[in-house]
Amino acid sequence: MIIDTHSHTNKDYYDDIDSILDECKNLGIVKLIVPGTTLIDSKNNKKFKHPMLSYAIGVHPTETQKILNRKDLEDIYSNDVIAIGECGLDYYYKPNEEDIQNKNFRTQIEFAKEKNLPLIVHTREALKDTLDILKDYYKKGDSISGVIHSADGDIKILEEIENLGFYLSFNGISTFKNANHIREIIKETNPEKILIETDSPFLTPEPKRKEKLNKSTNIIYVLENIKNIKNNPNIEDIIYKNSLDLFRL
Ligand SMILES: [Zn+2]
Repeated sequence: MIIDTHSHTNKDYYDDIDSILDECKNLGIVKLIVPGTTLIDSKNNKKFKHPMLSYAIGVHPTETQKILNRKDLEDIYSNDVIAIGECGLDYYYKPNEEDIQNKNFRTQIEFAKEKNLPLIVHTREALKDTLDILKDYYKKGDSISGVIHSADGDIKILEEIENLGFYLSFNGISTFKNANHIREIIKETNPEKILIETDSPFLTPEPKRKEKLNKSTNIIYVLENIKNIKNNPNIEDIIYKNSLDLFRL
């Protein structure tokens, strides 16, 4: 069985979500985790109820218009929320707004801690700062858990993040011809710490890359690729169990 741990399957991108979920079911994809990217998006996503969809609420690091506070998150929180995210740091798109990104990331970590929920972390060109912030909380003895979605960058730093207990999630990028670096990271990652995702509607994997709109059904190509790289007959079951464990499904 398969869980797509990062899929923006919402009304902004798809007209017929039910039929996508039917297709998913036929392929053994039993659950999609839908992260939020803004307060409004996080709130709206949750209105579409389906047993195969679980929701996270969060504010993406490129959304730097507003300093978040705890109440902003509490206002959109409900008991069915299973994670906080996507949150994190993105110095690639917003290189001059590190301060507000750091603040908003910490606010979301605090909220996740309070609600005892895992974090879905987006980090781009900011891996070292991401590690340092996470370490801050571990130093204080706080128990936080989560996943680095679309994991990429310095293998050593990723290894440190993994050693903190975080999972690394891989998507269609790992199937691209020019993505040897990601395949190297997958090789080095402990199978017990691997998750998979599509990041739909983005990052359509090979061999479907010509189709612009990615769908969660394409996670089968991500999984196939990881099976080839890891050469471990149990990898599908291990990844499935990792998803259940982290998100307490
Ligand atoms: Zn995303």
